[in-house]
Amino acid sequence: MSTRFGGRSVIVTGAGSGIGRAVARLFAEEGARVLALDLGDGVEETAAANDAIIPMRGDAGSEADVASMIATALDRHGGLDILCTNAGISGGMAGLFEQSAEDWEKVLRVNLIGPFLAIRHGAKAMLDAGRSGAIICTASVAGLRAGAGGPAYSASKAGVINLVQTSAQQLTGTGIRVNAVCPGLIETGMTQGLYDAARAKGREAVIGQLNPLRRGGEPGEIANTIAFLASDEASYVNGHALIVDGGLSTSHPFSRPRVLGETTF
Ligand code: NAP
Repeated sequence: MSTRFGGRSVIVTGAGSGIGRAVARLFAEEGARVLALDLGDGVEETAAANDAIIPMRGDAGSEADVASMIATALDRHGGLDILCTNAGISGGMAGLFEQSAEDWEKVLRVNLIGPFLAIRHGAKAMLDAGRSGAIICTASVAGLRAGAGGPAYSASKAGVINLVQTSAQQLTGTGIRVNAVCPGLIETGMTQGLYDAARAKGREAVIGQLNPLRRGGEPGEIANTIAFLASDEASYVNGHALIVDGGLSTSHPFSRPRVLGETTF
C-alpha cells in the first residue's frame, strides 16, 4: 500500500458520488484519514470501501455545516492537512433567458460560496494549528470559456478559478497552497443523463469526440490530479488551475451553437 499521504488529515466534499468518491477513496488507499462530506447517503457507500473514511452528512453551501465539518476533522483527526472542495451542482443547461436570479443563487451558493466557506474555515484551522496545507477546489473547463455548462454554472466555476488565485495571494507567507482542477467531460452522477441518452441511441462512441483523446474521462483521472496537487510533488504549484480535459480546451469551436433560433453555420 502506498503511504504517500500517511497520517494526513483530509476533507473531501461532495464525496458521495463521482469525482469526490474517487478522491476520498484514493487518499484513504494512500494512507490518509479522510472526512467525507455529502448531502446524500452515497457518502456512507463511499466510506464502506475503507475504514479510513469517516462519512458525514452536510451541506457544503451552509456556513454552519462547513464549520462543523472542519471542527469534526480537527476532533477526529487532530488537524487538517488537505482540503478538497469538490461538491457541485450543474443547475441544468437552460440559457440566459430561461434562468432566474433564484437559479443563479442556488448554483453560486453550492459551487462558489461553498468553496469560499471551506477555504475560510479550513485555512483558518490550518493557520491556528501552525500547519501548512494544501487546498484543492474542483472547478471546470466551463469556467474557462462558454459552452460546457449553463450560464450560472460557467460563471460559478470561473469564480472558483479566481478564488484559488485570490486565496493563494491572501495566504501569502503561510505555506498553504491553493489550487484548482478543471475537469472536462467525466462520467459521474452529474453527467449520467448525457451518457445514458447517448448509450440509449447507440451513440456512446460519440462521447468525448470533441477532444483530441476522443473519449470522456474517468473520475479516477481527476482524483489522480487532485492527489498530485495535494502532494509534496506539487510543493511549488500554487494559485494554479490545472486543466484535465483530454485537450478539449486547446481549441475554439468551429460551429456556433443554436442561440435564439439562429441556424448553425
Ligand atoms: P456527482 O457525481 O453529481 O457528484 C457531486 C456530489 O456532490 C453528489 O454526491 C452530490 O450529492 C454532492 N453535493 C451536491 N450539492 C451538495 C451540497 N450542497 N453539499 C454537499 N454535497 C453536495 O458529480 P461530479 O461530476 O462528481 O461532481 C464533482 C465536481 O466536479 C463538481 O464540482 C462538478 O461541478 C465538477 N465537474 C464535473 C465534471 C463532469 O463532467 N462530471 C466536469 C467538470 C467539473 P447529491 O447527489 O446527494 O445531491
